[in-house]
Amino acid sequence: MSEKNIVLLLGANLGDKEETLRNAVIEINEGVGEVVSISHFYETAAWGKEDQPSYYNQVLVCKSSLDPQNLLKTTQNIEQKLGRVRKEKWGARIIDVDILFIEREKISEENLKVPHPFIQERRFTLEPLKEILPHFVHPVLNQTLSDLLLNCKDPLPVKKLSMK
Ligand code: ADP
Ligand code: MG
Repeated sequence: MSEKNIVLLLGANLGDKEETLRNAVIEINEGVGEVVSISHFYETAAWGKEDQPSYYNQVLVCKSSLDPQNLLKTTQNIEQKLGRVRKEKWGARIIDVDILFIEREKISEENLKVPHPFIQERRFTLEPLKEILPHFVHPVLNQTLSDLLLNCKDPLPVKKLSMK
């Protein structure tokens, strides 16, 4: 079966965020495909309420032979599994896994848009993306990820952490 390069964005803002992200990477490596490249963690303050914990984000590339719908199902199962493990009482997800790119494919299905529609608007997505794929050309916008970051107007500061 042919393998494709898949780019995923991980986000966590509840519980032990480092542990959650590391567990997500383990699950992705086992259930989606071999993780071949991974960014550092990036921290972004949450808007509004001061008592809201900050977000941690991370981008990775993996090699997968899953078709797009099965890829989405598998990443959603991983979100659920990690959410249950943490036993959070409230509904907020402790982990979000978004599909940013599947090679240079364009998909516009009701439940799945690829490239992810908000990449260019979110500094917390572009910063880790640029770290590992600076020269990748966005298949719809036809700009490199470095250039998209330079042109990004998102005012929310993003801090690169020393861990991955
Ligand atoms: P968000 O990521 O916007 O905070 P969710 O993770 O709950 O919210 O996702 C909402 C829906 O987005 C999912 O049910 C999924 O079907 C849809 N979706 C569309 N495109 C994508 C994509 N590229 N990656 C992940 N989910 C997607
Ligand atoms: Mg999501």
